[in-house]
Amino acid sequence: LSKPLDSSGDPDTRDGLPVGRGRVSGDWYYEENPGASRLGIRVCEKVHEERSAYQTLAVYETAFFGRVLTLDDVVMLTERDEFVYHEMLVHVPLCSMPEPQRVLIIGGGDCGALREALKHPSVEKVVQCDIDERVTRVSEDFFPWVREACADPRAELVFADGIDYVARHAASFDLVVVDSTDPVGPAAGLFVRDFYTAVIGALRRGGVMTAQTESPHWNADLVAAIYREIRASFRHGAAYACWMPTYPSGCWTLAYASPDRRHDEFFDERRAFEIETRCRYYNRALQQGAFALPTFARDVVDRGVDPFERFTAARRGLLARGGEPKE
Ligand code: SAM
Repeated sequence: LSKPLDSSGDPDTRDGLPVGRGRVSGDWYYEENPGASRLGIRVCEKVHEERSAYQTLAVYETAFFGRVLTLDDVVMLTERDEFVYHEMLVHVPLCSMPEPQRVLIIGGGDCGALREALKHPSVEKVVQCDIDERVTRVSEDFFPWVREACADPRAELVFADGIDYVARHAASFDLVVVDSTDPVGPAAGLFVRDFYTAVIGALRRGGVMTAQTESPHWNADLVAAIYREIRASFRHGAAYACWMPTYPSGCWTLAYASPDRRHDEFFDERRAFEIETRCRYYNRALQQGAFALPTFARDVVDRGVDPFERFTAARRGLLARGGEPKE
């Protein structure tokens, strides 16, 4: 196996840094980026919490963000802005190919990506393979789109490790969407070239993989490492971006990768317009426009540099000195 991005195997650290964890303090939920920052969300009530075989799941009722799903105390989605990420993860690749029929979603247990893939008339089958069935069952109880998406006859829910699933399904999919948690724990293996090589094996001719690939503002070193793996695996690999307020820094990248299709070689304008009328974020201008990155982000993705190395090092130093921060 090529070295996973986080070789520690410790689910609480990534590249030697503690993974963000959340905490509730009074009426506030804080997602903490240790030694760096906190995202604070004013909560009205914690309406669900459980520990599955893989992670802690929680759902919060809030005023400003609607319902919020966290896994291991990290924000996965909020009703207010999940459309941003799910629309961009799915429609950019599907509108870049003529007649997509078969889609595989790795992760995506909240069914947001599934809902979007089902909007395309040519799509005949969407397999959603999340390792943790509880994510979907909890999402069914708290998020309105889930039951309808799961009831679509084209939807097939599989509960398994996506790493194993792709290895067992050769030349089966036009699009593989990697809608995973951050590269720690069971998701660490979804960001390395061995997995990407298996994805290439699962793609049909002209197939594409998209994946969430973190924030070039706050995780530049991690984004650079992910794109090194992608560039070492796929003939074509490009990053595009979206405005995602409740993910760290609010600036989020997505990868478009393919063994034999560039992101700009085909565009189904008519279908994209039909899709656009059913979306709140995706539109035809973003099909190519989203790939225009600010210079610092282009340097992270294309040249593997960390423009914020000084601050990354200072954070590591602060954390190395240990000690819980005073409230
Ligand atoms: N949109 C969210 C984000 O970007 O943070 C992620 C959505 S979804 C809730 C993430 C899913 O990835 C979780 O449900 C988790 O169970 C799943 N997951 C993590 N590792 C996995 C693996 N190896 N195979 C399949 N699913 C996995």
